[in-house]
Amino acid sequence: MGRNSASYVTHLECSATGECVPARTLQNLSAAGRPLLVRYDLERVRKEFPRSALTDRAPDLWRYRELLPYESTGSVVSLGEAMTPVIALDKLARRWDLSALWVKDEGRLPTGSFKARGLALAVTMAHELGVREMAIPTNGNAGAAMAAYAARAGIRSLCFCPSDTPDANVREMALLGAATYLVDGLIDDCGKLVTQGERERGWFNCSTLKEPYRIEGKKTMGLELAEQLDWQLPDVILYPTGGGTGLIGMWKAFGELEALGWIGPMRPRMIAVQAAGCAPIVRAFESGAVAAARWENARTIAAGIRVPAAIGDALILDAVRASGGIALAVDDDAIETAWHAVAAEEGVLLCPETAATVAAIERARERGAIRRGERVVLFNCAAAQKYPLPAAAQALPRGGAVDFKRL
Ligand SMILES: *Cc1c(COP(=O)(O)O)cnc(C)c1O
Repeated sequence: MGRNSASYVTHLECSATGECVPARTLQNLSAAGRPLLVRYDLERVRKEFPRSALTDRAPDLWRYRELLPYESTGSVVSLGEAMTPVIALDKLARRWDLSALWVKDEGRLPTGSFKARGLALAVTMAHELGVREMAIPTNGNAGAAMAAYAARAGIRSLCFCPSDTPDANVREMALLGAATYLVDGLIDDCGKLVTQGERERGWFNCSTLKEPYRIEGKKTMGLELAEQLDWQLPDVILYPTGGGTGLIGMWKAFGELEALGWIGPMRPRMIAVQAAGCAPIVRAFESGAVAAARWENARTIAAGIRVPAAIGDALILDAVRASGGIALAVDDDAIETAWHAVAAEEGVLLCPETAATVAAIERARERGAIRRGERVVLFNCAAAQKYPLPAAAQALPRGGAVDFKRL
């Protein structure tokens, strides 16, 4: 059923200048040094791929094949990217007067994070285009996902992560066969080493938005969400923003779905959430800037959003503004409080990055950026077990003799 070979891709396009680049070639940034975006013949997809065709397809991200970039089904590198469940947080929805608060649990993807979506596509494309070695700067989850898919494809992988990356992530990358380096510095320092290796050793640079395909994988989060909500997008999406690939990817997905006639012009307001200790996008948003300056001395317990400078800064700011959303920061104490609350009240263990988005709801309600009765969506970006969890709220009783009256 469907097309096994040949994609609907027409070309790659520079996100800043509109310059066209041929698609069937290995690419990183455009000539202008900006991200390249994949463009499809959406007119033809619209004619040949009715929404109803989805009902017969496997419940995984490859069901959106016509909106994905690979030429041949035979090149697909997969570890079972099942559709992730959308879970209602009813008690918290009531607390903030929302008609719905949903969390899409991305921690169930291979390697325990939504980085699997992007890297499944990036490695599939690298495999199709003959890459032998690929390198990535990572705060942990991206490197683990790349290492896993590269191992399957027989591609050598190299991961560069800050030396204080959570230990579970570092071990995971190494176990998956990646040459793993602990760098004294932050993720953009790791990025410089990857650029150097690209120049001196010919490694393919797999940094987010410095190659065109991770975003195509990440956009399936938006396609899936739209389908799961019966093509009625929510009023608000809160997104913990590091490199911003997911936010930009979902925004691209919604545009493509509208071009196909599968959704109308209504868009969620996109709220970019950052940690107070690393908030370059929030600062740029508030000052009205179109690009974000590097954040110095970045620190937060939410490792996945400790990104002091993002190559997709202009795209993130564009999407947030075009959607009528905002960018806001929350501090690490608020992240911990929210982390405890969702776990103890709703039975859902979040990653700290997602706890930041929960903390942001209250702030956004106060500022009128989320209004009563609205439908709000969060993403649990990674399995909580990949992180050092916060200590329990109270000292725990221990010892041999249990005092049953106190329990
Ligand atoms: C990568 C990551 C993020 C940030 O995602 P971007 O799309 O790169 O902004 C947030 N949380 C976790 C757990 C991550 O791994």
